[in-house]
Amino acid sequence: MSSCPQCHQAISPQTVICSYCGLELKAHGHPGIDLHRAQLGTFLCDSCSYHQDDSCTFPQRPQANTCTLYQDVTLAQEPQLSASEIYTIPWWRKYSGWLLLGVIVLISLALVIL
Ligand code: SF4
Ligand SMILES: [Zn+2]
Repeated sequence: MSSCPQCHQAISPQTVICSYCGLELKAHGHPGIDLHRAQLGTFLCDSCSYHQDDSCTFPQRPQANTCTLYQDVTLAQEPQLSASEIYTIPWWRKYSGWLLLGVIVLISLALVIL
């Protein structure tokens, strides 16, 4: 359960419009599109990564009070895990082709010797 940023009443995370104060919480009336909202006296763009890297083309930039694409620059700068840190391939899987070839050669040699 989350709360409305304006009236602080408990609401569902899927709530589109706060039933207590009428604040729009989701964009375009769709529960899947978050509508980020600036704190009073601030602009979202000041802490948005798209403003920092100059890739935003929205007309409300740099004074957006609400935005659907806002991305907190502090969260965007967290280090990303590389593929090798997420999943380490076991050595025998890396060289499985060579291992299979070696087994075939050994079996062939054994058949020739016998
Ligand atoms: S995406 Fe939204 S919050 Fe971010 S810079 Fe553009 S207008 Fe501002
Ligand atoms: Zn509310």
